[in-house]
Amino acid sequence: MAIDYDLLIIGGGIHGAACAQAASAKGYSVLLLEQFEKPGLATSSKSSKLIHGGLRYLETGQFKLVYECLQERKYLLHNAPHLVKLVPFYIPVFKNSLRSSLIIRAGLSIYSLFSKKPFKTISRKKWHQLDGLNTNDLVTVFQYYDAQTDDQQLTEAVMNSAQEMGAIVYTNTVFDKAECQQNYCTAHFTRDNKQQIITSRLIINTSGPWVNHVLEKITPEQSHIDIDLVLGSHIIINKKPAQGIYYLESPHDQRAVFVMPWQDKTMIGTTETDFTDSLDHIEAPKPDIEYLLSTYNHYFNPRASEQDITDSFAGLRVLPKASTSAFARPRDTIIHYDKTDTPRVFSLYGGKLTANRATAHHLMKIIQPFLPQPTQDIDTRFISLTK
Ligand SMILES: Cc1cc2nc3c(=O)[nH]c(=O)nc-3n(C[C@H](O)[C@H](O)[C@H](O)COP(=O)(O)OP(=O)(O)OC[C@H]3O[C@@H](n4cnc5c(N)ncnc54)[C@H](O)[C@@H]3O)c2cc1C
Repeated sequence: MAIDYDLLIIGGGIHGAACAQAASAKGYSVLLLEQFEKPGLATSSKSSKLIHGGLRYLETGQFKLVYECLQERKYLLHNAPHLVKLVPFYIPVFKNSLRSSLIIRAGLSIYSLFSKKPFKTISRKKWHQLDGLNTNDLVTVFQYYDAQTDDQQLTEAVMNSAQEMGAIVYTNTVFDKAECQQNYCTAHFTRDNKQQIITSRLIINTSGPWVNHVLEKITPEQSHIDIDLVLGSHIIINKKPAQGIYYLESPHDQRAVFVMPWQDKTMIGTTETDFTDSLDHIEAPKPDIEYLLSTYNHYFNPRASEQDITDSFAGLRVLPKASTSAFARPRDTIIHYDKTDTPRVFSLYGGKLTANRATAHHLMKIIQPFLPQPTQDIDTRFISLTK
């Protein structure tokens, strides 16, 4: 029996795009389904838009994640210079900051060792140039470099790259269900109000917060990981964009909050709020907006008011269920599948925008034994993301 596709990918966020790119680069036939009208409209356009190693992950000992993300940052700066740009980051340390200058210096030393980019302190004489940063009780200001992107455009660029290598992408298309046999799956989906059926050797489930909803639609029953969905909000305020990104400690709970230039305004984020609502209503709740505004006002003059807020948005982190705070939990990506002789369904939980290519590369290594030999081997580390 002829099978239509090697891979059916469900979900057109950054991970679906990256998996489509990685599989097409090996010559596999790919069909990707995305329920919305464009790729990247869910979590992958609601992130903090940073292409970074994640300095704060050093605090929780996630050295491998930081190192991998910094490697990926290097590739992205090279492959998508129009979309990924280095930006100066400033970390002000105050008398009462939870993290002392010593701790931050130690973290930045490891970070600059991994990234091969130096950090420095800003001399007191130049503090007045720091976008109205409050200097009362200010002890030190560190400066280092990380990168910023447009997450939705990056997702589209990776998707374009996959399509250029042959992947087929259907938007406005909802995956309905699939039945899997030993060697292939039969998938049903709705496109333009019409039901269609295809067969694929494997199913890659990159549906982000919908990951377990998609798994529920596949027979025979697939195992899943219990997850917490954690909402992260951002606000955009009508203030001249800052010259760099400020990495601040929230005065409420000492979490990291970024104040960033975004287009011709200033973006502030993010929060970590337990989410139990419907996935059809993902928006920044009022307490999150107040938390972000008051964090900004704690550090900057002149203050911003509610009237200065021009927009807000929120996305969902997918974290394995745990009782510890979301802030302290590992952010590694999990690739989950049933450990049978012929697994057909592979689901991705969590992940970082920054590490999308590396994640897809790891996934390809896992699924390779269940696919025919690849017909080509284009190295995704060196593919330019031109569009
Ligand atoms: C608040 C926040 C800030 C973040 N900041 C950063 C950051 O600064 N840097 C960084 O590296 N990472 C960051 N991340 C992580 C990163 O944004 C996410 O890991 C990444 O965007 C997740 O992408 P995804 O493709 O897995 O999911 P999504 O982007 O959510 O994509 C899943 C897609 O599946 C589709 N889908 C679902 N069900 C179906 C169905 N039945 N049929 C068809 N399509 C379906 C959805 O429409 C969606 O488009 C952040 C995350 C959050 C939440």
